[in-house]
Amino acid sequence: MQYVDSLLDLIGHTPLLRLSRTLDAPLGQGEEGPMVLAKVEYLNPGGSVKDRIATRMIEAAEASGELQPGGIIVEPTSGNTGVGLAMVAQAKGYRCVFVCPDKVSEDKRNVLRAYGAEVVVCPTAVAPEHPDSYYNVSDRLASQPGAWKPDQYSNPNNPRSHYETTGPEIWEQTEGRITHFVTGMGTGGTISGVGRYLKEQNSSIQVVGADPAGSVYSGGTGRPYLVEGVGEDFWPDTYDRGVADRVIEVSDADAFSFTRRLAREEALLVGGSAGMAAYAAKQLAHELAAEGRTDAVIVVLLPDSGRGYLTKIFNDDWLAQYGFPTGTTTETTVGEVL
Ligand code: PMP
Repeated sequence: MQYVDSLLDLIGHTPLLRLSRTLDAPLGQGEEGPMVLAKVEYLNPGGSVKDRIATRMIEAAEASGELQPGGIIVEPTSGNTGVGLAMVAQAKGYRCVFVCPDKVSEDKRNVLRAYGAEVVVCPTAVAPEHPDSYYNVSDRLASQPGAWKPDQYSNPNNPRSHYETTGPEIWEQTEGRITHFVTGMGTGGTISGVGRYLKEQNSSIQVVGADPAGSVYSGGTGRPYLVEGVGEDFWPDTYDRGVADRVIEVSDADAFSFTRRLAREEALLVGGSAGMAAYAAKQLAHELAAEGRTDAVIVVLLPDSGRGYLTKIFNDDWLAQYGFPTGTTTETTVGEVL
């Protein structure tokens, strides 16, 4: 019989999928390169790449004694890292408390609660120094006895998990033929860990960041963008400033329209940061093709699933509200089908 005893054994070892139709002619047809291979991270049991860092951060805290049996994990997050932490905490029997601002959707809070986590919601309308503010509440909760705060923006086990798992998987899956690695940057854990590992195997591998226009990683000041999970208005400790050879800036409009193309043309339902990274990978593939680099093997990491964005990126009204092109209709009448 083939089975695992723990859900945690299902984290990682995600497949590479070759992109075809969305690369646009002359790429993607037949065997001629450059190839673009997508690392499909939504196939992790918690639905995102963040399962990897959640396990590694928790196991390291257990080993160091920072997290003791009966301890409480406290993190100010409501996104994929929250889901990863909630899942691992549940599997290992820890209490898990998330602090999130009231603007976070009820759906996101409910996912965390479904895993048994507790969610403390803080008002956005109060100043940071107010006792009920997001910052003060999470600091207060994290300083109680038995509490431990993973802090994905400064925890070295975040990039380390990618150095130890994601990087080696990509190297083995491509049999060392990878020439370019493309990924978005939020905490910078993915690019720093994978990038360092790959460059240690072959220093000529190019590490390319994809970044929303306006974020610090592409020279901005943190001007607002709508793509979620990537781009920052500060430099996190988990980002290794020496790792990226290049950063490709992608607009929200290009990120969202490419995210929709991935679903409609590759049957790959992924989130906006995945669409953004894949768009950058496609641009890079065309550049390399123009230089005659048909041997290039580009690996692009797709962090999460499109399921979490159905009311946003995949909703025409939402796109239209921000002036983005929509392309498809939301409602189909019987008459249109017959
Ligand atoms: N995409 C999504 C949807 C994310 O949640 C994150 C993590 N914030 C990233 C991309 C970026 O990954 P990293 O934090 O490793 O840079």
